[in-house]
Amino acid sequence: MSKDFRILGRHHQDEPTEFDVNGVTIGQETFHVFAGLNAVDTKEYVEQTFAALRSNGLVCARMGAYKPRTSPYSFQGHGKSCLPWVFELAGKYGIKVISMEVTREAHVDEMREALALTGHPTTVMLQIGTRNTQNFELLKCVGQAHEFPVMLKRGFGITLQESLLAAEYVASEGNRRVIFGLRGMKTNFGDPHRNLVDFAHISVVKRLTRMPVCIDPSHSVGGRGASPDGILDIFHVAAQGTIAGANLQLVDIHPVPGKALVDAAQALTLEELPLFMEDMAIAREAYLKRRKLLAAAAPALAA
Ligand code: PEP
Ligand code: MN
Repeated sequence: MSKDFRILGRHHQDEPTEFDVNGVTIGQETFHVFAGLNAVDTKEYVEQTFAALRSNGLVCARMGAYKPRTSPYSFQGHGKSCLPWVFELAGKYGIKVISMEVTREAHVDEMREALALTGHPTTVMLQIGTRNTQNFELLKCVGQAHEFPVMLKRGFGITLQESLLAAEYVASEGNRRVIFGLRGMKTNFGDPHRNLVDFAHISVVKRLTRMPVCIDPSHSVGGRGASPDGILDIFHVAAQGTIAGANLQLVDIHPVPGKALVDAAQALTLEELPLFMEDMAIAREAYLKRRKLLAAAAPALAA
């Protein structure tokens, strides 16, 4: 065990690996799907998306209000102006947690204000994007925002150790509710996928730390390519992550993917969501069966 992860590392058997987020238990033993819009666009699409989540029994969502974009001329997100109505709609549809990226300290204050203004109809999981994994001042800031859990995405061009230390930054400021996100690595070796899928690290993160592990099949694959078996690559990698013990799935969906303002190519449709959920249930069941089989055999095989 590395001594680098003083707070998030696994030191003793009895240290907790789960925590509560607005009534939702998130941990290394649980499984949740956070589906939703990559970027908040219209009220209609946000409402249709939340309604789809509710009809699929989901209480967690993803929604981007602040979008870090490669080009300064691309849509940057609606910012704080959309927060009150997004939170109100979330409350209307029973959404308990929204994963929402922040790129600077002021965004955390804006979320706090909007939640207070609307009477806390939901809560936010502060998402640190892959481009900000080593923005240490931002990490300290979300580490001090103890009322919010933080989902830190692995940096797409740095080592796993460096990204885990970034998560430790958040915890070192007193915020222990940290989730680690895998979203693929930036290299041409993953072509034609947008990123090289890095879900083989799920078990490593769980072994080294007590963090629940989130995977993002949408950003990993980046497109709607399908294999001859009729299954989209996004479904395939999502299932690979779930069967390997992922605890959260962050997935882009949109009522009309072609109209999504950000990452339109990788959004699933609302009609695909129930299929995705059923596929994840199959993969989760397979993970639990694998665990039963192999964990029971491990002591005998090691002897
Ligand atoms: C996102 O999830 O909207 C996002 C921008 O992801 P990443 O930081 O992984 O690119
Ligand atoms: Mn994106």
